[in-house]
Amino acid sequence: MTKAASAAAKDLALAGVRGVHLAWADNNGIPRSRIVPIGGLADAAARGVGATTLFAVFDTHDRITYAHSGLATPSGDIRLFPVLGRLRRLAGQPALAWVPARQVLADGAPSPYCQRTALQRQVEAAAQQGFELRAGFEMEFAVAPAGSVDIASAPGHAGPAYSPHALVPLDGFIAALLRDFDGNGLRIGQLHAEYGLAQLELSLAATDPVSAADDQLLARQTIHAAAHAHGLRVSFAPLVSPEAAGNGWHVHTSIRRHGRNLLAGSAAPEREGAGYLAGLLRDLPALTAVTAPSVPSLTRLRPGYFASAYTFWGVENREAPLRYVPGSELLGADHANLELKPCDAAANPYLALAVLLAAGVAGLTERLTPPAPIEADPGTWAETEREARGVHRLPVTPDEQAAALAGSPRIADALGPELFGAFQAVRRSDAEWARDKPLEEIVRAHLWRY
Ligand code: GLU
Ligand code: MG
Repeated sequence: MTKAASAAAKDLALAGVRGVHLAWADNNGIPRSRIVPIGGLADAAARGVGATTLFAVFDTHDRITYAHSGLATPSGDIRLFPVLGRLRRLAGQPALAWVPARQVLADGAPSPYCQRTALQRQVEAAAQQGFELRAGFEMEFAVAPAGSVDIASAPGHAGPAYSPHALVPLDGFIAALLRDFDGNGLRIGQLHAEYGLAQLELSLAATDPVSAADDQLLARQTIHAAAHAHGLRVSFAPLVSPEAAGNGWHVHTSIRRHGRNLLAGSAAPEREGAGYLAGLLRDLPALTAVTAPSVPSLTRLRPGYFASAYTFWGVENREAPLRYVPGSELLGADHANLELKPCDAAANPYLALAVLLAAGVAGLTERLTPPAPIEADPGTWAETEREARGVHRLPVTPDEQAAALAGSPRIADALGPELFGAFQAVRRSDAEWARDKPLEEIVRAHLWRY
């Protein structure tokens, strides 16, 4: 390990790299990092780099909450270990490299607060039952000139949505994105001007869950650097203004056994794969408390925005939180996947995939059956009609969200008691910060955090 690190460090140093970001994401989905000089990488790989355990209880506003009993004092340390297999020189910041970090205790065991380890655990538990998840994130974000305090006063493009012309003023930035994603080893499926205010979207290729979460973090670093180099600033926040369409980070997943995609099907996943869908639907409110956890996330999830607001699934239904994308003659059965829409940048990507996997695999092993798909938008129905179809509003307030989260033993188990406790404490801290503040102010405080 140390030998490999020494060799990698030597190569990077010769290429002009001075330091390496050891990066992870906290319970608010905010990336954090420590830079080690390139000469210190081998030592970091052998002994880790010290950091406070309290990162697990930082809230979105960099306040530390001591409300979780496991982390109730300022004492405690973890070690950050670089995952060398994912070490990359940053194409857009050539003096720096980037590597995801694992959080480890003094005795070398994984920290119970390590989100990456929590996901790894779910991946291994699924593998033991023969299941393998593949996942890829779509990332929506808004662009503004560097130095902007918000998006609305100087939108970085003026539309029209999906128009090539919208992207002309952003030409240098777009070219840098394509070049730097490639340089950083990230595959983009597609990129376009989205319909939100000054919004762009790109989708990352599907891969194994831990790599998908690593990729999503590296993609953010790549986008921020390319924006900065072109006099721009990007916001990944779930909402960039109270009215405009939000930034969704939809996650597409498929679940496999022995290489076979269990979601294959045309109008619905085949019998077994349907259990995965039903499992996600059963835990959707609790799941969403992890995948779209911030206070603005709650407002993003409203009817009529293709962001999802009610608990149901549909075939290619853009309003559905669970949009089934069937295989087709053109693309083959293997193309089938399920899109989870209530997910955004405020989600820790490792935790988002950990809870998704836990809920989905539980549905598979319990052989749950989903209700019939819905083709319409239940947001346009009367409440009685929704009731009759078992369609419910996703949580709207932090209190509803907290109750949903507390209500699913599967989601709690996926995080483990320590991480679950810290995560809940952080949500309470965020909710308390936002209490009685106007939405405008809440949105502004989240704009540049991710
Ligand atoms: N912006 C929407 C959201 O907040 C998604 C729009 C779309 O991609 O269809 O999730
Ligand atoms: Mg989109």
